[in-house]
Amino acid sequence: MSHLMNTYARLPVAFSHGEGAWLWDTEGKRYLDGLAGIAVNTLGHAHPRFTAALTEQIGKLIHCSNVYQVQSQELLADKLCSLSGMQEVFFCNSGCEANEAAIKLARMYGHDKGIETPSIIVMEKSFHGRTLATLSATGNRKVQAGFEPLVKGFVRVPYNDLEAIRQVAQHNSNVVAVLVEPIQGEGGVRTLDIAYLQQLRNICNGQNWLLMLDEVQCGMGRTGKWFAFQHSGILPDVMTLAKGLGSGVPIGACLAAGKAAGLFKPGNHGSTFGGNPLACVAGLTTLNIVEHDQLLAHADNLGRFIRQGIATALQGVNGIKEIRGQGLMIGIELDKPCGDLVKQALAQGLLINVTADNVIRLLPPLVMSQNEAQQLLDILCPLIKDFLQS
Ligand SMILES: *Cc1c(COP(=O)(O)O)cnc(C)c1O
Repeated sequence: MSHLMNTYARLPVAFSHGEGAWLWDTEGKRYLDGLAGIAVNTLGHAHPRFTAALTEQIGKLIHCSNVYQVQSQELLADKLCSLSGMQEVFFCNSGCEANEAAIKLARMYGHDKGIETPSIIVMEKSFHGRTLATLSATGNRKVQAGFEPLVKGFVRVPYNDLEAIRQVAQHNSNVVAVLVEPIQGEGGVRTLDIAYLQQLRNICNGQNWLLMLDEVQCGMGRTGKWFAFQHSGILPDVMTLAKGLGSGVPIGACLAAGKAAGLFKPGNHGSTFGGNPLACVAGLTTLNIVEHDQLLAHADNLGRFIRQGIATALQGVNGIKEIRGQGLMIGIELDKPCGDLVKQALAQGLLINVTADNVIRLLPPLVMSQNEAQQLLDILCPLIKDFLQS
């Protein structure tokens, strides 16, 4: 009997090692990785330059505490700000922690303005994490059930609905911020309209609200730009990152700009592990390799190739509702629950995921080649066809 808490419905497979877009299980069977540990393994597995940089850093210094200056943390903050246009960064270890920092920033911003019970607008079907504040912000009852009382101070609206935002603006003077994923990951790979994001930016300016983007899943080059908001030409006040930032080494970041910058003072927030030298070298090396190997353009091209390949292979098949996403964040919505496909793909040596019951989700590593993407299509498309026709 396992001594692990029963928090996951795990598949019956354990991996021993990987290389690029491939993983091997403990029996020696090989799998093509279409999930990248849920958008984490940006550089795939055992990337030679990444491995070398981390090995070197482990031999020098893993952790030293934020009571000291950490040079790699400064460098990673510089690099993230220059790529994003943001001004300052707080480092933590995960996505929920990055969002906790954003929520605390928004509350402090509100208190500074004299709002004693600040509220944050959040979206239906959103996912922001599993700490008490972030599960309260999350728009999924399954994530919240059993953990009441929820943290107060969130107002929920439908995704992609500007009118709903305007209504809240009219009736709620405690709002201080909007927290939204540019592309909802757990919610079914749903993309915000570019015009929505631009209008939301205007509303936030007019109301003096912070625009806070959760790019924990869609950020770090996955959509073909460094950050998903860059497709819309706007700049947020706060952005959170984690998953793909360290290519598998835990690291999260909360970035701030404009009126969200300079709010925290010493003692307001912190993290023991956050921004340690190992995690920051993982982040820096990830950014360097994505840049050097031109993986943004690659993610864009390969994403089109995969979406086009799916559309062609499944043309005329009944039961496909929509093929959507951007870059290497791809969703295929079926007209019925399709969790079984995960096991069927696994049996055929392909790792995929199903989210929101009926959306097949692909989040391959940015290093997947076109030939490997073709192999993914050759396994996945017939499986979907058979599944829908059975
Ligand atoms: C995964 C995810 C989180 C939570 O990240 P953890 O590292 O699991 O805490 C938050 N927001 C989004 C959009 C995510 O996809």
